[in-house]
Amino acid sequence: MHHFRKGLNEQKSVAVNVPRKKIMMCLNESYANPYHIIKESFLSKLERINLNRYFSEITKELHAKLSQYVGNSNLLFGNGADEMLYYLFTAVREDTNSFALSLSPSYFDYKSYAQAVGLNIKFIQLQKDFDFDEDLFIASAKNKNCKLVILCNPNNPTGNLFSSQKIERLLQKIQKPFLIDETYFEFSAKTFVDKLNKYPHLILIRTFSKAFSAAGLRFGYIVSSKDNISQIKKVATVFNSSILSQAFALSILEHKEEFLEINKNIIFEKKRIYLELQKISEINVYETHTNFVPFSAGDRASQLHKYLSENEISIRDIGAHPLLKNHLRVTISNKTENDLFIKVINKFYHNIKNKEKK
Ligand code: PMP
Repeated sequence: MHHFRKGLNEQKSVAVNVPRKKIMMCLNESYANPYHIIKESFLSKLERINLNRYFSEITKELHAKLSQYVGNSNLLFGNGADEMLYYLFTAVREDTNSFALSLSPSYFDYKSYAQAVGLNIKFIQLQKDFDFDEDLFIASAKNKNCKLVILCNPNNPTGNLFSSQKIERLLQKIQKPFLIDETYFEFSAKTFVDKLNKYPHLILIRTFSKAFSAAGLRFGYIVSSKDNISQIKKVATVFNSSILSQAFALSILEHKEEFLEINKNIIFEKKRIYLELQKISEINVYETHTNFVPFSAGDRASQLHKYLSENEISIRDIGAHPLLKNHLRVTISNKTENDLFIKVINKFYHNIKNKEKK
């Protein structure tokens, strides 16, 4: 006998299944530990924080600093972009017919969190060029049960940006909560923040997990209109964000230039990895606007994935979707780890050639 709601027993649990190896190039994390950068600033805040209290001055300071960074003060922050998705999904769900509309392949956990709150999710399939049919998207979005549309821009795991003109046309034609997931904004330099005033139904989600090197911190935020934020807040727990996380996030913002420097290096290294992978004839690699690159490795993809894993390098197998059959995704790391990745991959193909010769 199950004690929880109908359908929950059949639902898959949210789990991240990746090989945990010495070299983690699989979860689009940053290679840099932020603590070394913000230590002094964080410790001095720790001195004046009263963790016996629910309220802290830090919250106001962080809100001001984050507003300044984003260029808009209508925001809500919490435990990663994921928690923001969860809140948003909770806020839009009307009844058992309600659905969110997204693209596929895209960020896998839209489905997980939608299901978690009893919101259905439908997908428009990406085409071979990783773009999508605008009319199909609009037609589905017009369904009365569609309560939210989601675009991940740039898209994970394909890494591409959708055309801004196209997104704006969609914003005009779809007058419903319209989420643009800007998790990789600092790498793409493309944002719709300046469109928030024009489109009151526009909602943006961002995170400190990627460009601010703090996946473990769990800090993300929603930016939207004042009214949307106050509605979404109604489904949030009241003290959802720890004062410790807030102090850490504030320290990161005080040192943001240093993190943005690291990102410059990631973008530089990405180009290098891209060019190195391009040299390998069995591989087809894509240019991206993120801190990762997807590539196809043909029939040998799973063998290559395993070989890297045996060499303590974990990258992501993104081949579950038919469009990405035999595709892998590597997160850009520091020079040493990137060099090793390239070396091991070349060795893999070198070994195959040698075997074929024999
Ligand atoms: N959205 C996208 C597109 C992502 O790639 C990720 C993380 N991989 C998230 C949201 C979740 O990020 P966070 O760590 O802030 O919860």
